[in-house]
Amino acid sequence: MYTTKFLARVRAELETPRHERPFGSGWLSGSIGILAGITGLLMVIVLRNPSLTQMPELAAIHASGFFKPVLYFVLFAGFILACLSMMLRKDKTLGSAAMAVTLLATMIGSLPSHRDYQLGGLFVGLDFFIINVLFTGALFVPIERILSKHKDQVVLRDDWREDLFYYLVSSLMVQILTYLTLAPSNFVTQTHDLGAVRAFARSLPWVVQLIAIMLLTDFMQYWLHRAFHRVPALWRFHAVHHSARTMDWMAGARMHFLEIIILRAVTATPALVIGFDESAIQAYVLLVFVYSTFLHANIGTSFGFMEKVLAAPRFHHWHHGVEDEAVDVNFAIHFPFLDKLFGTYHLPDGQWPNGYGVQGHPVPKGYWKQLLYPFQR
Ligand SMILES: [Zn+2]
Ligand SMILES: [Zn+2]
Repeated sequence: MYTTKFLARVRAELETPRHERPFGSGWLSGSIGILAGITGLLMVIVLRNPSLTQMPELAAIHASGFFKPVLYFVLFAGFILACLSMMLRKDKTLGSAAMAVTLLATMIGSLPSHRDYQLGGLFVGLDFFIINVLFTGALFVPIERILSKHKDQVVLRDDWREDLFYYLVSSLMVQILTYLTLAPSNFVTQTHDLGAVRAFARSLPWVVQLIAIMLLTDFMQYWLHRAFHRVPALWRFHAVHHSARTMDWMAGARMHFLEIIILRAVTATPALVIGFDESAIQAYVLLVFVYSTFLHANIGTSFGFMEKVLAAPRFHHWHHGVEDEAVDVNFAIHFPFLDKLFGTYHLPDGQWPNGYGVQGHPVPKGYWKQLLYPFQR
């Protein structure tokens, strides 16, 4: 419904009469941006489908070595043109359409291939993932500028280099861990006959599968997260995540290596063992990547009643609050009702925490010091 409306608006914008779209009005950049995005999307689809690249015509182009560099250029052009159109044009339809299709192409490119689970395929998406991280940053920087909660906060604030490093490390981890977390569930499904459960899960509509995965992982995440706060030995790992004193799109990436492994392994396994559709699981991997960036972002917008249904930045900012009332609240990352249900919900009307971090700020600065911190007395 909403999509049809949006597509109708895109078409109306594309059909703007010539005299109403002079050079510099953002029409040309938006239109070519969409074209570049769609081209990139098609190229990614070709790249990811071995059966397609074995077609003689395509195999020749692919083997020439120019395919990937051209694809990067196309995606980059799509992104820049989308930004340009958004800046120049009052109506943001063309710009956002170009942005959406370009980001979709890079995201699909960065997904681990589910065709082969051997490590050889691992680095296929790595380069895309790096582009993806750059695009995500380039997208969130202007959003934070326009919708910021803390207006005077700058992009290159304290510790930005450490957090950017964390960001790159954990983005690469998504790839590697997707493989690692797929391995046990592959084992279970190969050694146990879960055919009936699997068939039922896969018979559900795709959107229902995605929501079910969100519910399952957030339920697991809630209790694991709570344990990370309440068990002293685990807290020393999780304190690294809470040591961020500035909240923005980079801050959420600050997480101890071991915590990422435990978190991913524990939260993902149920959904994997049940055996939802691969595309629904991959969509969730993308969703959780963007969602956790969003939750930590410096975004002050109020989302009204939706904040009670789905976690918004203010909800997770309270989880990072430095004051007493913010300690051990809001453990969920998708559904605040989990915190209501288990008595840890805290979202005072329209209010924000006074500051972020751990009381007394015991965690040292720097990636390597933070890596060692949990093991030190
Ligand atoms: Zn926490
Ligand atoms: Zn957080």
